Amino acid sequence: MKIGFIGLGNMGSPMAANLAKAGFEVFGFDIEEKSISNFTIVNNIEDAIIGMNVVITMLSDGNIVKEVSQEIISNLTKRKTFIDCSTIDVKTAIHVGKNCKKFNINFIDAPVSGGINGAIEGALTFMTGGTQEAFSIAKPLFEVMGNKTVHCGKIGSGQVAKICNNMILGSTMIATCETIAMADKLGLDRDKLFNVVSTSSGFSWSMNNYCPAPGIGPKSPADNNYNPGFASELMLKDLTLAQQAAKSVDADTPMGELALKVYNEFVNNEDGKGIDFSGILPRFEKRSRNKNS
Ligand code: NAD
Repeated sequence: MKIGFIGLGNMGSPMAANLAKAGFEVFGFDIEEKSISNFTIVNNIEDAIIGMNVVITMLSDGNIVKEVSQEIISNLTKRKTFIDCSTIDVKTAIHVGKNCKKFNINFIDAPVSGGINGAIEGALTFMTGGTQEAFSIAKPLFEVMGNKTVHCGKIGSGQVAKICNNMILGSTMIATCETIAMADKLGLDRDKLFNVVSTSSGFSWSMNNYCPAPGIGPKSPADNNYNPGFASELMLKDLTLAQQAAKSVDADTPMGELALKVYNEFVNNEDGKGIDFSGILPRFEKRSRNKNS
């Protein structure tokens, strides 16, 4: 099977490499020059689309996906499959899906969770939206790049699941960080706090699997000077998408709204850009209740 892979960034390049390792013929394209040896790199986007059975995109945002989808629709043979793994807004996913349908192209939105390590290890979770037919074609590829796939429903459902997950993640990361900083001030040893919370009702993925405190819990970006990992600006993007979606259906989401406000301040006013989203812990260490740092 020939697979075109468009967007060879932090996530896309290991995902494409895993497909090549599993024996698929992979043709990768990125607008930036990439030195990757695991599979063929092509210099024109058309060469990653024409003659492919499946085209996968892993791009930064909805506008880029919309733009690239035009190329895919113009160059992909009918009845072939387009899988978008980027995290984008629900509206754009539905729009791209409708356009693909007009041209008889199968479309599936399939954002992922699991981060760069999950992409490298082929251990991502895929949350997918699309027809059963498109899902059946894409499933063997998800099984190579990940270890769990959930077919969430119609086109756009994958993106809905993703923003719901990340709204919880952003909120729990903030709760975990403010708690660690408060415990520090109250004189509780961080190891003891982890020991209690990670096996008590305050546990979460943010505390147990991705602890924002260096040297505590399993290895995480905190142990690598908060190098991403999952950059704060990507969390800001996802929290923004979550609020757009919440507004579109008049859902009351006070925690999500506050999480967006905090990451917005962190990224845009507090040098959080380029720092892992768990790197918000030092911000709480510095701050006091009256918000003066
Ligand atoms: P990235 O910025 O590293 O990769 C995006 C790549 O797309 C870049 O290499 C860029 O050059 C390329 N690109 C941009 N415009 C293009 C175009 N027109 N044609 C071809 N290539 C183009 O981002 P990433 O971390 O790989 O994330 C990709 C997507 O996955 C995002 O939507 C992100 O929200 C989502 N995601 C990321 C993580 C993570 O931990 N990094 C986890 C889950 C989901």
